Amino acid sequence: MAGNAEEISPRGFDLEAIDQAIAAKNWLLRFPPKLEAAFERDTGAQRCRELILRAYIGIVIYDLFAFADWWATPELFWTALWVRVAFFTPVSLLLIATLYTYPRDFFRESVMCLGGGAIATGTIIYLMAVSGKTPQGTLHESMTLVVLFLTVVQRIRFSYLVPTCVAFLAVHVLAVARFYDYSPGQQVAINMVFGATVIFALVASYTMERDLRLHYLLSRKERAQNLKLGRMSRRDALTGLGNRRFLEETLAACEQADDLRDRLSIVLLDIDYFKLFNDTAGHQAGDLCLKRVAGIVQAELRGEADHAFRFGGEEFMIVLPNTELAKAIAIAERIRQAIESAAIPHPALGSVVTASFGSACSESGRDAAEVVADADAALYAAKRNGRNQVWPPGIAAESLPASGRPHPHEGWAELSPPGLG
Ligand code: GH3
Ligand code: MG
Ligand code: MG
Repeated sequence: MAGNAEEISPRGFDLEAIDQAIAAKNWLLRFPPKLEAAFERDTGAQRCRELILRAYIGIVIYDLFAFADWWATPELFWTALWVRVAFFTPVSLLLIATLYTYPRDFFRESVMCLGGGAIATGTIIYLMAVSGKTPQGTLHESMTLVVLFLTVVQRIRFSYLVPTCVAFLAVHVLAVARFYDYSPGQQVAINMVFGATVIFALVASYTMERDLRLHYLLSRKERAQNLKLGRMSRRDALTGLGNRRFLEETLAACEQADDLRDRLSIVLLDIDYFKLFNDTAGHQAGDLCLKRVAGIVQAELRGEADHAFRFGGEEFMIVLPNTELAKAIAIAERIRQAIESAAIPHPALGSVVTASFGSACSESGRDAAEVVADADAALYAAKRNGRNQVWPPGIAAESLPASGRPHPHEGWAELSPPGLG
């Protein structure tokens, strides 16, 4: 039941807001606040898991560069190994550990920029500083790898990537000038290569994030549309109540959830002398009457689990999970009185529109169809007993033990003969 209730009243799915966000093109890579919060809620945890996995890959690759140290700068090998294994790796593992708490976007993206970016770059700069002015291509070039790692592998959000990359570029310019003996011309060329890498990476990052956000909006739109269609296909067009299909689904869900064992009650109601109403006032007036009665039924229901359906022409069904028969009868009586009090004039009778009610409650070992049949039999009894009433009558039902009520077909033969209709 809970699943059905959620499906017919989903929260937070607003097609119009999604359409507006799609039309707005999202140049600034930011949704309106509510949608941004939903985006973070829907994607945040998965993003943390991906960051964690790829961060481990990043650490392994970073440490594997010890081989490059061994071959390119053997005199620096042990220093580099210490920096890699005893400093960078544990600090990075510590930062990764914080991602297991599934932090919000600011913390998450910042941690990655710090660990995968700033600390990695810092260690590279340190090794450049201690390498003693020997131009070691692999060291400053590995800053390019850091940029690629953050952009393409971790896909750090663009707004966090821009300041990070600008800082990298500045550090790169300074480090190449300070620690190596390149001529100014060579420095320009080296920095231009790195600068171009940064720009390409930023362009790629911007495009990827825009695509990601558009994809999110489209998938959310599809979900919202499916829910809307699902809701429409479960509604009766005239009254707005659940239709027969939704009723079948609801009853099946009740059976599956074992709601029948917990006293599932069903109330069937039928407008009295409705054919006469139609014949006298016309079909359109009849439709309006049906709408009003449906509105009263819906308004009288309490709790999210209770559902009203249009069962047939002028018959409605109310499904009340976890409700004893006496309570169902009381609810039915309340609705009966509400319909009567609404004082909808009956054009043929000169009185007001009324309805008759049949109530039944599940017992162990019986299926929903049998409870519906009981409610139908009780409705028939209410009609035969003079209409505008609930059957079984409330007082009799309340005095019965919960499991010892008579079968609706039993002992009713002596009821008064059918009246009009
Ligand atoms: P009773 O008191 O025994 O229930 O008599 P009744 O006239 O209400 O019952 P009956 O089954 O004889 O007639 C039901 C009528 O409901 C027949 C049909 O014209 C009308 N009806 C069924 N569906 C609709 C509908 O969608 N709109 C309108 N206006 N009338 C409908
Ligand atoms: Mg009928
Ligand atoms: Mg009727």
